Amino acid sequence: MSQYDDRFTSALQLAFDAAMQYRRGVHDTPAQPVDSYAQQLQRWEGVALPAQGLAPEQAVQALLDRVPPGLRAMTGGRFFGWVNGASHPVGLAADWLTAAWGQNAANHLAAPAAAAAETVAARWLLELLRLPPECSVGFVTGATMANFTALAAARSALLAREGWDVEADGLYGAPPLTVLVSEEAHVTVYAGLQYLGLGRRRVRRVRAQADGSMDAADFERALGEAGVGPLLVLLQAGHVNTGACDDFRRLIPLARARGAWVHVDGAFGLWARACPGRAALVDGVEQADSWATDGHKWLQLPYDSGFVIVRDADAHRRAMTAAASYLPAAQAAERDPTQYVPELSRRARGFAACALLLHLGREGVAAMVQRHCELARDMADALAREPGVAVLNAVVLNQVLVRFSAGHAAPGAPRGGEDAGQVDDALNAAVIARVQADATCFAGGTRWHGRWVMRISVIGFSADPDDIQRSADAIRKAWRAVRREENIQFS
Ligand SMILES: *Cc1c(COP(=O)(O)O)cnc(C)c1O
Repeated sequence: MSQYDDRFTSALQLAFDAAMQYRRGVHDTPAQPVDSYAQQLQRWEGVALPAQGLAPEQAVQALLDRVPPGLRAMTGGRFFGWVNGASHPVGLAADWLTAAWGQNAANHLAAPAAAAAETVAARWLLELLRLPPECSVGFVTGATMANFTALAAARSALLAREGWDVEADGLYGAPPLTVLVSEEAHVTVYAGLQYLGLGRRRVRRVRAQADGSMDAADFERALGEAGVGPLLVLLQAGHVNTGACDDFRRLIPLARARGAWVHVDGAFGLWARACPGRAALVDGVEQADSWATDGHKWLQLPYDSGFVIVRDADAHRRAMTAAASYLPAAQAAERDPTQYVPELSRRARGFAACALLLHLGREGVAAMVQRHCELARDMADALAREPGVAVLNAVVLNQVLVRFSAGHAAPGAPRGGEDAGQVDDALNAAVIARVQADATCFAGGTRWHGRWVMRISVIGFSADPDDIQRSADAIRKAWRAVRREENIQFS
């Protein structure tokens, strides 16, 4: 008879000890990995797929011998790249259990606990984000799949109203859908359109304002041009560079009056709703039809975790349910996780969500969001005091955009063939490279209004005022070094 095989215990213990050692040391680790991708590959050179397998702890040790130099300290307090949560220890603990329990979360008969935990986490999430309790929630890998899933539900509902069954009959010959989307929408919104046959290009791009939010006048123009057919409107809570949110109170009623399905990409910005001090930014967002948000950003769940939230649960299920005879169908009283996501077999993401929401509580989430916004403000203030540094965005949330500029400094006159903007682009690239090489903190670059700038996202749960100060000092030091190199002086 099969039984627990004690030969694996030491491999599990080894993994636990190494994980604890990593998490304890991560705050003192340089923000830049020692290894590049190529160096990591090199470490695997000569390691062939064995004909006869290694002992359990040797197989785990093989990872520990190679991987750590290639890890980036994303869970530390001075990582400000992209928009990344930091894998909270309570989420991690629940995630370990999730893997240990090994549930396939596809349906409630196979895995009742996994399905029930999603039902509970979904209820708490809707409460926290103050969205209608009748909404359905799918536990997906991230906002990319959340956007995709919501757009599939939108496509289904809009075409069903026209008497068209898109799940069965596809898009050929279907009534055309008009799509209004901001020119500043996240790339993954365009990706969702791409995956669903709606087309990245076959859209009316609505102009954005200087802060990246949608231009209401151009939106009204686009609504006027849209004709009377089915209409999909894609809005955003939290621009990936500036944190700016669309004016939901104004835009959503206009769209709904026209019968549109309104979807909101709120990968991180939707969490402003969970924070009384920031909620005004996303006022009115609850009137939308669907929302995409991340669990692995502001909520700090371990990768990967995202949520798709849909007001019309029937459309959500219709768009995502695979017709298969061997699978049990959920009754009204039950919930099959697979009916709300593209996947069938998958990880039981509800366990970690339940545990972390229990640990943080409503006030813990609110305080964390508030703290990150204040730390971002502190970072912006600390940098703006330095000559030649400009903060380009209103720091409404946790995102800071910084431009380093020779400005009118002498003698930084434009070099031959370059305009002052291009000279500054090169300066910004140089500062970013120096900051990354110094490795006190990590910040990346982005193109903003045609210019290369530094981008800082304060969103790791453990970031504290000391992290901000040390990081601001390191960034200022890098800028001073670049100025010295380029002989840029401010009088
Ligand atoms: C991060 C982000 C996404 C994509 O989310 P993933 O979790 O990476 O799939 C989409 N939209 C916005 C605004 C984001 O910030």
